[in-house]
Amino acid sequence: MKSRSIYRANPDHAAATAMARGERGHWVMAALYPSSASAKTIARRVPIAEMMPAYEPAGAYEAYAAQHTDGTALWVRYVAGDEPVPVLPDRMSVRIRHDGDGLRYSGVGVITVTVSTRCPQCGGPRGFDTVTPYRFPHDGDWCVVDRWANRCGHTDWCDAVLKESREVLLPLVPAPVPVPSPPAKDSPAGLILTAAKGRRGMHAQQAAQLLDVHGHGEDAERIRAELRSRNGHMSAKQAADLLHSLSSPVAEGGVQ
Ligand SMILES: [Zn+2]
Repeated sequence: MKSRSIYRANPDHAAATAMARGERGHWVMAALYPSSASAKTIARRVPIAEMMPAYEPAGAYEAYAAQHTDGTALWVRYVAGDEPVPVLPDRMSVRIRHDGDGLRYSGVGVITVTVSTRCPQCGGPRGFDTVTPYRFPHDGDWCVVDRWANRCGHTDWCDAVLKESREVLLPLVPAPVPVPSPPAKDSPAGLILTAAKGRRGMHAQQAAQLLDVHGHGEDAERIRAELRSRNGHMSAKQAADLLHSLSSPVAEGGVQ
């Protein structure tokens, strides 16, 4: 099967969303990032379309970041519409052939293992919904194992699946998303938010000036740089959010 990767040097989210809209409910690889922190940050922003205009309106897309042989892949899917889309589980249990680890072992065995639903090569969803029993004869008996097809086209080999089931400790439930704590009152973001409360429609430009006055020149410059990239469209509240997100661990490693 043809790889569905649309990786480019610069992520082309417009192309990714066009492809995803054409196949509602199917996951599409949108981008590949060298840093997992960047990929995770973007994956968090996609569903709420935060600074990601290609994914507007908020709620139209789902996203996750997963390990890829060349970095960390961002996978997205279009979910807007009335019909619910199938949930992508975190793991899958399958029966595989396992003839024992000892060199002298000659029997045929079948064991059930649990592995991730993400392809270890590209991070795309494994064919957890295509699992079918496969019967094969052995010594006058029938053995049954499972087979599945990955939409990404990568093949799972029995040995690798067994190894993964033994090595990778999968969390029982998805890791909870930490609730961001509000910025401290005396932090640059806190100063802006306090001022914005008393000044309706406060602009990011005014927020930058406020920070200059309080000796936070570096943060003021950061806001002005962002303001330029947004062609001047930025509120003080957005400036505060930007500084706060930059000081949070989730943004570590930068964002592309
Ligand atoms: Zn794959």
